[in-house]
Parts: sequence; C-alpha cells; structure tokens
Amino acid sequence: MSNEFTDGLKVNLENTMERIQAACERVGRDPKEVTLIAVSKTKPAEMIEACLELGQIDFGENYPQELKEKIAILPDTVRWHMIGHLQRNKVKYIAEKAAMIHSVDSLDLAKTIQKEAIKHDRVIDVLIEVNVAEEESKSGVRTDEVLPLVREIAALDHVHICGLMTIAPFVDDPEENRPVFRTLRQLSVDIAKENIDNISMSALSMGMTNDYEVAIEEGATMVRIGTGIFGARDYSNK
Ligand SMILES: *Cc1c(COP(=O)(O)O)cnc(C)c1O
Repeated sequence: MSNEFTDGLKVNLENTMERIQAACERVGRDPKEVTLIAVSKTKPAEMIEACLELGQIDFGENYPQELKEKIAILPDTVRWHMIGHLQRNKVKYIAEKAAMIHSVDSLDLAKTIQKEAIKHDRVIDVLIEVNVAEEESKSGVRTDEVLPLVREIAALDHVHICGLMTIAPFVDDPEENRPVFRTLRQLSVDIAKENIDNISMSALSMGMTNDYEVAIEEGATMVRIGTGIFGARDYSNK
C-alpha cells in the first residue's frame, strides 16, 4: 500500500540508517543501540504511513494537538515520542498513547503526567530535558538542576525516568556541538552512579538532522531526525 511519498522516503530512510551505522562503526558501537525517531511534525499522516510500511516505527511530534490528531488516524503500531515543549494543560491529549515524553523539565509537569498516567492505568516513560548550552530561548533545566529534579520525580510511581534529552544549539559545524553531547552523557553517567530507585539513565536522546552523527559518536541512544527524512518543513499554515 505504498503512496506518492514512498520512493523519496525510502531513499532518505536508507541513507539515514547507513549514516547511523557508519557513525556507530567509527566508535565501536552496535547500531542496535540507536533508535531512529522520525520527526514528523507538520507532515501529513500519509507520509508517516509510508514510513511505517518501510519499517520505521518510532515517530516524534512537537505539538500535543497535532499528535492527538495523528494518534486518532494512524495505526497503534506507531511508537509516538512527544519531543516538543509540553504545557501541563496539554498532557491529557497525549497521556494515553505516547510511548515516551522527552521534554520533562519541571516537577509540576511530571506531577501532571503522573495524574494522567493513573487515569489510563499506565506508567509513562519520560526523559529530563536539559538545556546544556544554557540558551535563553530553549526550554529544559540547567545541568546543575537535573539531579535534584530526578530525585523528586523518582518518587512518582506512574512516571518512569529513562534518561536525558537535549536540543543542541543550531550551528554550522556539527563538531561545535560535541562538547554539548559529551556533557549530557557525562551527566547521565554521574546520575546513574547515584543508584536512585525507580529511574534509569539508559536513554540519551540527542542529535538532529545536522548533528546526529556526532551525537551518536558521543553516546546517543535516540536520534530525532526530521528534515533528513521528510524534507524541509513548511510552517506557513501553522
Ligand atoms: C524539530 C525537532 C527535531 C528534528 O529537527 P531536524 O533538524 O528537522 O532533524 C528534533 N528534535 C526536536 C526537539 C525538534 O523540535
């Protein structure tokens, strides 16, 4: 059941997978450790369908309302990742079906996720979003705020912290972001050593179209790739 998008997406997905594999090989990692999240925000459901048929299962969305609409029309086999900034009053749109929320940056948000998770009788996997580069425009907590926040959220039994996420600065040369990725990875190692109950530090969500190879070299277990798979985004009707 291919559609008008299948051919282009097939090339892009294969290309991306090859580059993921090559990045893993450079540093002696197993490519199976890296999950490709296809970031489908602003893109039509038909494109996601075409990717699904090509074997891509993990998709990332930024806007709760858009995610809710896509969940309603796409098969349950999709693993949905909420990767955008999340307001507390929007958690209800995504709490039933999101496989993971990457953008938790406050105890209040985690408490709301806990409440919604209880309603749906599930435990929701989350990542703590860290603003490693301390950019004014970005959400996420500072590196020194992560451990205290992790300790507080660990007490919520329907929220499971799986690791950390960051959005690196937009740079021309991806090498410039290597220290950012390295910092996030070191932070996750340090937190793992604290042996906090009910949390894991196994997931590192870092790297986008422009810098995912560097992120993989620095330990990313999830890369979030939009443009590299779906092409440029058009926000004109958003
Ligand atoms: C849009 C977005 C991406 C994908 O960006 P590309 O540069 O298109 O790969 C990844 N992560 C987050 C949080 C995003 O908002």
